[in-house]
Amino acid sequence: MKGKRKSVWGSVPATELIYNAAGSPAVETVPTEGICAVCGQYIEEGVPIRKVVSSAFTDWNALLDMSASHVCKACAWCIKEPHMRRSQYIATELELVYFKRDEIGKHLFNPPEPPFVFFVTASYKKHGSFKARVNQSQKLFYVQFEDRQILFSPNKYRGLFELMKMMYVTFNKVNEIGKGNYIHKRVFEYGLKNWQRDEAELKKYRGSMVFELLLYALNKPEEAAKQEDKK
Ligand SMILES: [Zn+2]
Repeated sequence: MKGKRKSVWGSVPATELIYNAAGSPAVETVPTEGICAVCGQYIEEGVPIRKVVSSAFTDWNALLDMSASHVCKACAWCIKEPHMRRSQYIATELELVYFKRDEIGKHLFNPPEPPFVFFVTASYKKHGSFKARVNQSQKLFYVQFEDRQILFSPNKYRGLFELMKMMYVTFNKVNEIGKGNYIHKRVFEYGLKNWQRDEAELKKYRGSMVFELLLYALNKPEEAAKQEDKK
């Protein structure tokens, strides 16, 4: 695990990018000398680790140094800030933007100028900030989907997402598009041949983390939303 976080030595850790993007809010620290338990940065001031993580903390194996006594300001803020777990967000060198689930698709296909951190949550409670990667490209980047890293390419998956959106006009999200358990009546409504063609395409991705992310990002299409309103 430790070797994977090359951002520590190669560039700014994700937590630092996020913290700076948030405007570097004040964090109470004490003098110390050593490395941040979470990101591994050398620090001369920090927050005692027991003040940052509670006994309920379950991510000990994600820390860079479990034996370190202190945490840097950036990591302390990211772990303590409830928004870091309860929202989707993108952090860049300029800003920290929180957004709702229905905007995930928009941001996935229009990522910001790098460097950036992209975080998505479905549980609205799991930590992910200090596990995230700082992305350096808009063409290929990591989305931190709670505790999982998903490698994403807008160009590669644009067609798939369009297809999913189109199918979502007719089919439901979880059982039909998500699991492939279609209701016959709707297959005929969609058109058998079209369904065969499109389902063959979906099948290639179903079960992958990218598919799961796109399924989560799928919005009720406008037409369906309107019908829903009429009910
Ligand atoms: Zn740190």
